[in-house]
Amino acid sequence: MVIVMRADAPKQEIEKIKERVETGNRKVSVMEGRDYCVLGIIGDTTDIDVNEIEANEHVEKVMKVQQSYKLANRMFHLDNSVIRVRDKTIGGQDLAVIAGPCSVESEDQILNLARKVKECGATFLRGGAFKPRTSPYSFQGMKLEGLELLKLAREETGLPIVTEIMSADMIERFVEDVDVIQVGARNMQNFELLKELGRTRKSILLKRGLSATIEELLMSAEYIMSEGNSNVILCERGIRTFETYTRNTLDLSAVLAIKKLSHLPVIVDPSHAAGLWWMVEPLAKASVAVGADGIMIEVHNDPANAKCDGQQSIKPERFRALMEDITAMAGSIRRIV
Ligand code: PEP
Ligand code: MN
Repeated sequence: MVIVMRADAPKQEIEKIKERVETGNRKVSVMEGRDYCVLGIIGDTTDIDVNEIEANEHVEKVMKVQQSYKLANRMFHLDNSVIRVRDKTIGGQDLAVIAGPCSVESEDQILNLARKVKECGATFLRGGAFKPRTSPYSFQGMKLEGLELLKLAREETGLPIVTEIMSADMIERFVEDVDVIQVGARNMQNFELLKELGRTRKSILLKRGLSATIEELLMSAEYIMSEGNSNVILCERGIRTFETYTRNTLDLSAVLAIKKLSHLPVIVDPSHAAGLWWMVEPLAKASVAVGADGIMIEVHNDPANAKCDGQQSIKPERFRALMEDITAMAGSIRRIV
């Protein structure tokens, strides 16, 4: 970190700032010229509040050299993290394919879809039991009953289950019942929930917030990891831009950026990004091409009558075709990192 002092900053003010940041293993070197004074800080600066220093009237600006996340940072963990979930891995050689309906609707529906996606080669089953809906009058999910049905589907197919948690009071139950706990886009910055999940050792699928920057996503991962849980998988699911044709704008460059900045696995959810079923297959292939560790796809056998997100759900036949293409592609793609 570099602190540029104002040209007229009094000596004692410079000294005060120096004393303030020079703690623990941090060293400060002062470079002074005729018209300038710059403080160079060497060591871990993650706990320095940049805004607080910039609020000082004698400070011109603060430049960060180091990112504010540490445990999620590739700098301190050069190898890719591989997250183990039952007999599967995310972030290793194999592409993780998480597929299933937006929400669990009935026993028949989830068992049928679980069998079908498994047969096509999916490695995880998804299905929302607790649904974060924009309108309080929309279907809110089957809740605990939905969780039981997911367990039934796991028992029958052997597919690990991925489902969204909405509040911390459900953590105990989710730890018991679920294989990967999803934190949805709307809860990406629910820091209390993240901290509580950090105290478990469950795999957490953290989705990028609707308008979150890559750094904010990584800071949220840091919240989970700083409590001791390093089993974090990141998910790019589209962000809000001025474009309205698609539900969100899929930011594929985020996959590359995250791979450079962090060692955590990153998957892509083209369903929620596009919001249009006919874009899901090509965007899923593009995600694989760009080096994602996995994809999350909404599959429904009757999208027109789905209780949630039918417009972005593909039918099992299309999912089968997608899996065939992806399997053929995966062998020929050189993983970037
Ligand atoms: C979902 O995966 O069902 C979901 C609600 O996604 P997101 O949080 O990305 O909107
Ligand atoms: Mn959905």
